[in-house]
Amino acid sequence: MTRTDCIFCRIIAGELPATVVHQDEICVAFRDINPQAPVHILVVPREHFASLDEATPERRETLGHLLVTAARVANAEGLTEKRGGYRTVINTGPGVGQSVFHLHLHVLGGRPMSWPPG
Ligand code: 5GP
Repeated sequence: MTRTDCIFCRIIAGELPATVVHQDEICVAFRDINPQAPVHILVVPREHFASLDEATPERRETLGHLLVTAARVANAEGLTEKRGGYRTVINTGPGVGQSVFHLHLHVLGGRPMSWPPG
């Protein structure tokens, strides 16, 4: 259900602008407004739930679909394993940097990255 107080629900509903690169019945992918890499895309389920902490067996298909979509979106951006690769990130909780409490998967690439992340 769309939450009027959720920025990602409002983007998914078309009420706020975003550069959408993929959408289907389960998720929407759009460019991050404050990119941390040359490619920075957010893959967001249409269903609102706050974080990965709310993963349940009933959401297994949705969660798997986010990963499949992340790979497709990355490849469509030219980010293959052979061409530098890409990083997928799900921040869970404010302590590790989650700032929007509608689950989303970051796809980042197009520059070298170090490990561990800060
Ligand atoms: P988090 O910090 O929760 O893991 O990631 C939230 C991301 O959403 C951040 O990278 C932030 O730049 C992005 N973001 C926040 N508000 C908007 C918005 O209105 N539009 C878009 N496209 N991205 C947003």
